[in-house]
Amino acid sequence: MIQNPISWPNNARCACAITFDMDADSLIHISKPSDSDNRLYPISMGKYGPQIAVPRILDTYKRLGLKQSFFVPGWCIEQYPAAVEAMLEGGHEVGHHGYLHEDPTRHSHEEQIEWFDKAMAAHQKVGNTPKGYRAPVYNITQGVFDLLIERGFEYDSSLMGDDIPYLMNTANGSLVEVPVHWGTDDWPPFAHYEEIGYMMPVKAPSVGLGAFFEEFEAHYEAGGFWHCIWHPFLTGRLARWQQVERWLEKILESHDVWFATLGEISEYVRTYSQQPDSKVRVDQLPYYNAPPSIAARK
Ligand SMILES: [Zn+2]
Repeated sequence: MIQNPISWPNNARCACAITFDMDADSLIHISKPSDSDNRLYPISMGKYGPQIAVPRILDTYKRLGLKQSFFVPGWCIEQYPAAVEAMLEGGHEVGHHGYLHEDPTRHSHEEQIEWFDKAMAAHQKVGNTPKGYRAPVYNITQGVFDLLIERGFEYDSSLMGDDIPYLMNTANGSLVEVPVHWGTDDWPPFAHYEEIGYMMPVKAPSVGLGAFFEEFEAHYEAGGFWHCIWHPFLTGRLARWQQVERWLEKILESHDVWFATLGEISEYVRTYSQQPDSKVRVDQLPYYNAPPSIAARK
């Protein structure tokens, strides 16, 4: 049961979005800045994203007539313009994902603004104006949220407060929040990356993907929103993507679903929320103005 269901366009039973964060090798450069240039294996693992996986993913989308969202750090746009141009040419959305995959909680607000605008310049260089944002490692802060509102963004996709999109209000304005969750993120089942402190036993494609497909079944039954947060260098690998492709063919043929970009979904939710009988949930920031003090805990 979903308390605040959204009626999706054309009476679709479930809204669906596969989002890919094309982080490429930004991850190793931000985590090992002193010698990342000479760490060839993680660089190559990241490069697999723009060079091998993205063309494969775009080919499937083209064949199935899907338009989806990608989130790309500014530095990756500069390094791999062909991959990003191919996304844009295919009619897909490219959202803001920091500059070098920097974690907003590790920088001052001034530094964060600098990174943010450097990324905006990279988007502009390929003719893209992002209207959505996903924080690297989901670590959005109150300061970044305000910055998004100030810069005219329409949605954020970093928080985990609901199953379906909702509105997030602040004193300065409001964004549509398109929620994420680790349950549909491919990092836990498929990433094995010692250099950034992440060592997980890699799951078989059917086991890792099976968890995401079970999430779909629940959302389909409840009239919800199935949202995957994947990475080209993980789920775009051959065996995994073959299974995704077959699954997509089956679902598109037999289920009443609305696959859309997060930009389209957030625009729809914003308009829908303005109808008098809609029940889109509204949350409010800040959550807190300070951490609970030790004294208050006693
Ligand atoms: Zn990322």
